[in-house]
Amino acid sequence: MLLGAHVSIAGSIDLAVDRAVDLGCTTFQIFTRNPRGWRYTKLKEKDVVAFREKLDRQGFKVVMAHMPYLPNIASPKKLIHAKSVQSLVAELERCGQLGIGMLVVHVGSHLGAGKEAGIAKVVEACQTGLSKVGNDVKILLENMAGQRNSCGSRFEDLSKILEGLGDSDRVGVCLDTCHLHGAGYDISGEEAVEKTIEEFDNIVGVKHLKAVHLNDSKGALASGLDRHEHIGLGNIGLKGFEAFINHKYVRDKPMVLETPEDRRGNYRTNMERLRKIYRGYG
Ligand SMILES: [Zn+2]
Ligand SMILES: [Zn+2]
Repeated sequence: MLLGAHVSIAGSIDLAVDRAVDLGCTTFQIFTRNPRGWRYTKLKEKDVVAFREKLDRQGFKVVMAHMPYLPNIASPKKLIHAKSVQSLVAELERCGQLGIGMLVVHVGSHLGAGKEAGIAKVVEACQTGLSKVGNDVKILLENMAGQRNSCGSRFEDLSKILEGLGDSDRVGVCLDTCHLHGAGYDISGEEAVEKTIEEFDNIVGVKHLKAVHLNDSKGALASGLDRHEHIGLGNIGLKGFEAFINHKYVRDKPMVLETPEDRRGNYRTNMERLRKIYRGYG
């Protein structure tokens, strides 16, 4: 089971690998820099070497990075869009340096300019990113939670973006369970999961699914809320996760938690809960 969590890079980036090992992760996700703000410093060669060495030594084959918070590649605002594209280019390069194969990108918000306009901006951003950075890092479009003005909450949005990019094999999808729920895609039980994944397959195609984020949801179905909850304690519930992670199109995908850490639980307890209900291929 490729299961892990979003771990911190505090101290230096290679410490993220130690944290992942300590948690018992078989995959994990990081920010390659402080995710707040636009500014960042270049990766230090010695940190890159340490990170890659640890990945190797610990046998991590599939790891991913998440874009920082501020970029919005769907933005109609010229300056913000340009800065967002720059960030995307920088992150693709940093992932390449670090040996990270996948970069998760929130599709973004069109800020009222309309979905078509937003989708066009996303396509433009990804095209620039892919043409400027010649490595093999994949961009994974993450589905959104159905917030107002969001692009990428609907499977149709993801499909249009992939189509706009000519079905490039350097672009895929990362489905976030909390965001699915927020956007109105029910995954709270076996039948619901079956129906939602079938719909994803029909509209987007499961071959594009490269990773999943496992988060329960504090919000109600179709609430448009992106509020992560401990596995089994939210409105998706344990039955939903059991059906989701054992689904034939999901069970072999890298699964990463972005759940809270508080007195009700942490990554350890959430991963434990998931391992107990995972049947794999047995
Ligand atoms: Zn996510
Ligand atoms: Zn989220």
